[in-house]
Amino acid sequence: MTNRSLAHPAPPPPATTREQRGLELYRERGHEIEHIGKGFYRVPACSGGSYRVNLAVFGGTESCSCPDHARHPELTCKHLAAATVARAKARMRARTVQAERTKARASRASLTPLAVSL
Ligand SMILES: [Zn+2]
Repeated sequence: MTNRSLAHPAPPPPATTREQRGLELYRERGHEIEHIGKGFYRVPACSGGSYRVNLAVFGGTESCSCPDHARHPELTCKHLAAATVARAKARMRARTVQAERTKARASRASLTPLAVSL
């Protein structure tokens, strides 16, 4: 027998993976993430200042100027994860705006013949 039950499962472990820390960073300071060039972002550092992130959208290798990425370039640091979320959100917003414009254009186009026939 364990002292855990299905009705009262153990609380989730604290966020410790880089991806989870990246999501937390985005949630808390995502509004500070700045798109500074094609695939390049300035991401706030927890210790103050910011790091430069390259999402390598045109090929190459993703990189971040933080010490964690220098130590473990094979891993996704939390700044890379946060910038990836920021980029995805910005793309979704852009697609939504584009879809609304297309819908508005289609709606205007369908109204025009009706307006003419009246
Ligand atoms: Zn980093």
